[in-house]
Amino acid sequence: MNESNIHVDTAVIHAGQSPCPITGAVIPPVYLTSTYAQQSPGVHQGFEYTRSHNPTRYAFERCIARLEGSTLSEEEDASYGGFAFASGLAAIATLLDTLTAGDHIVAMDDLYGGTHRLFNQVRTRSANLEFTAVDLSRPEVLEEAIRPETKLVWVESPTNPMLKIADLQHIGATCRERGILCVCDNTFASPVLQRPLEFGFDAVMHSATKYIGGHSDAIGGVLVTGQADLAERLRFHQNSVGAILSPFDSFLMLRGLKTLAIRMRRHCESALKLARWLESQPKVKSVVYPGLASHPQHEVATRIMQIDGQPAGGGMITLVLDSDISGCRRFLESLGIFSLAESLGGVESLVNHPAIMTHASVDPAMRDQLGIDDCLIRLSVGIESAEDLQSDLEKALDSV
Ligand SMILES: *Cc1c(COP(=O)(O)O)cnc(C)c1O
Repeated sequence: MNESNIHVDTAVIHAGQSPCPITGAVIPPVYLTSTYAQQSPGVHQGFEYTRSHNPTRYAFERCIARLEGSTLSEEEDASYGGFAFASGLAAIATLLDTLTAGDHIVAMDDLYGGTHRLFNQVRTRSANLEFTAVDLSRPEVLEEAIRPETKLVWVESPTNPMLKIADLQHIGATCRERGILCVCDNTFASPVLQRPLEFGFDAVMHSATKYIGGHSDAIGGVLVTGQADLAERLRFHQNSVGAILSPFDSFLMLRGLKTLAIRMRRHCESALKLARWLESQPKVKSVVYPGLASHPQHEVATRIMQIDGQPAGGGMITLVLDSDISGCRRFLESLGIFSLAESLGGVESLVNHPAIMTHASVDPAMRDQLGIDDCLIRLSVGIESAEDLQSDLEKALDSV
């Protein structure tokens, strides 16, 4: 199969995999082995120890690498430039390990809370890295924030929870020109909606826990690059640091990937319907959704996030209730189909209160600056009936 020109709907199911040459098994078996027998010292079939190589992990890594647009061959990199980790944060931590103490990083200001904590409470101290947070949804701030010692630009888009959109085309081009590594956390969009490598990014990161796995049953992370030299560095660090994804979780992720395209279509369709409806509700002060014309970067989102050439806003909605903290609590407690839980991107709908839950580790002053207030609520719209989801929200709004 020529994997470079197949449609994403086919790639999620087939890319990087072929039936087992020995048994014909259509699905890559779960190789639950830590080690591999050698015929003679150093004479083996390419597999020595599962931290370094595992066929099930390779299958997942190759598939996600192709989905993100890496065209590396097996000779250039054994897993086509895709690398799987024990969690999204393990993937980010390993990427940071490729840097050197003293390096400066420009990062999006509105980041996933755990990424923010890793940057500012761990790696600043343990690796002497320096982070500058800027609003990368404003293209002009990037040049101003870059210093001679800047080695990495870290973008998250759409962001969590404010759903800010960065112009990946502009950032990719700027970093290319300056020779600065740029990496995008693509968790919220998934490769079905946006492929940062196409815009000149060096690497893409995912919390595979979210849309990639898609069933809220496993934790994992991913890095993908389309460049052979960076792939070699990532492979070295993946093996040296050792925060790898297990064979069984690799199997779950690969299984989740098969429905990614079909799930993303449904997430986007339902989220757009609900966002439009929420915007018309008197108890809702504001709705943030990239697919709405009212979104501050709607134009950019329309250009960057697409399915089959059509704009697609993703499955996440952020809303602000016209109420107070107790009204918000009543809203959250009244929902029946939406489960009140951290995380996102699963088939089931979830609701989250960032100020108390996912973003509690972000300094209150920073939360204020970003607009993460007590009445801000984040929805992860699942693939249930959109009508049922709307009724659920309607009932909860009535309680406010
Ligand atoms: C969840 C998440 C992470 C962290 O991933 P884990 O798998 O929880 O370690 C990073 N970035 C974003 C945008 C996320 O949503």
